[in-house]
Amino acid sequence: MKVGNLVGLVGWRGMVGSVLLDRMQAEGDFDLIEPVFFSTSNAGGQAPALAKNETVLQDAFNIDALKRCDIIISAQGGDYTTAVFPKLRAAGWAGHWIDAASTLRMEKDAVIILDPVNMPVIQTALSQGGKNWIGGNCTVSCMLMGVGALYKAGLVEWMSTQTYQAASGGGAQHMRELLTQYGTLNAEVKALLDDPKSAILEIDRLVIAKQRGLNATETANFGVPLGGSLIPWIDKDLGIGKNHDEPGWGQSKEEWKGMAETNKILGQGEGFGSTAIPVDGFCVRVGAMRCHSQALTFKLKKNVPSADIEAMIAADNPWVKVVPNTREATIKDLTPVAVTGTMTIPVGRIRKLAMGPEYVGAFTVGDQLLWGAAEPLRRMLRILLQA
Ligand code: NAP
Repeated sequence: MKVGNLVGLVGWRGMVGSVLLDRMQAEGDFDLIEPVFFSTSNAGGQAPALAKNETVLQDAFNIDALKRCDIIISAQGGDYTTAVFPKLRAAGWAGHWIDAASTLRMEKDAVIILDPVNMPVIQTALSQGGKNWIGGNCTVSCMLMGVGALYKAGLVEWMSTQTYQAASGGGAQHMRELLTQYGTLNAEVKALLDDPKSAILEIDRLVIAKQRGLNATETANFGVPLGGSLIPWIDKDLGIGKNHDEPGWGQSKEEWKGMAETNKILGQGEGFGSTAIPVDGFCVRVGAMRCHSQALTFKLKKNVPSADIEAMIAADNPWVKVVPNTREATIKDLTPVAVTGTMTIPVGRIRKLAMGPEYVGAFTVGDQLLWGAAEPLRRMLRILLQA
């Protein structure tokens, strides 16, 4: 059945939502829809200039207003989804729900959408009447856009990932906090920096004292200083297992998502009648503004020449780009600064590791607000409008 084009947009003002609107404009998506803008904080206000006939902001908690929509795209966050989605379905709404939040991802009737990687999974669910389309974890989606070819070819025995995730992964307020901290630290030693003869140990001492002295307001979002530091824990403590020796013990929720979502996106593991591929590692927040980076270690099922691995990765989709494993190319093309705001997913540092010929290392960077959040949502909208 043809899907109608009244599209509710919730969370359009946030970090993911703003990038989503930019991309929808750039791709002409608004030519195909009648947008209805919702707000959790300013119902009755003026909708953004992109509005056509629906020029007033609707209350994002008003089930009757939401029920009018054929499709709803939410980038509002998990608490909102938890509060509203069950009520909306209970009220008999049979429209399509597209969501950036993780709340519904692992539900049986939800598909994690990343169509360049799992279009067959999406098509199967569509043909079976699927209505819940959830964007994947940003790090997992960017990783699969980069090295999905190795999974599709059935080559991966297991993968370990060590991530370097940007402040923007937490949203708009987290980016502001990081930048403010950098400013505070700079201000603390500005006079010494301006004097080329000043002692570096004195600068170092003042900076660490300032970092340790940041107050609760200055660290309200991350809880501890991030500027000039890193935080090796992202998201909740899942509290899995009772002792150190149980698999999953001491995993953060972000780390848990690596295996659970990678397998679900690929349509394998529990729920698909097959064995899940083990994926595990550490997720670390670093002081980058935007883009999640990750160092990957693969154990392949067989020895595949590096040139073949590079060729498979490069041919997988139009956005992935293999960066030659040279110092020059790496520092130019394989950084958050190079990748931010682009759709390109560079994969570099591809090399065999000392452990043996089946062990392959790689490093990838992706703009987690594009392929890791907004882009799969707007592409799902297109898929529905064309269905
Ligand atoms: P966010 O920037 O905090 O925005 C969420 C909502 O916060 C906005 O829609 C807005 O709602 C409200 N808000 C309050 N103060 C704001 C301000 N100063 N500027 C802008 N908005 C403000 O969150 P987000 O990072 O976009 O994340 C939204 C969802 O996407 C979450 O579930 C997140 O887990 C998921 N996600 C995020 C990323 C990422 O990299 N950030 C990636 C993948 C998925 P009102 O307009 O209604 O007030």
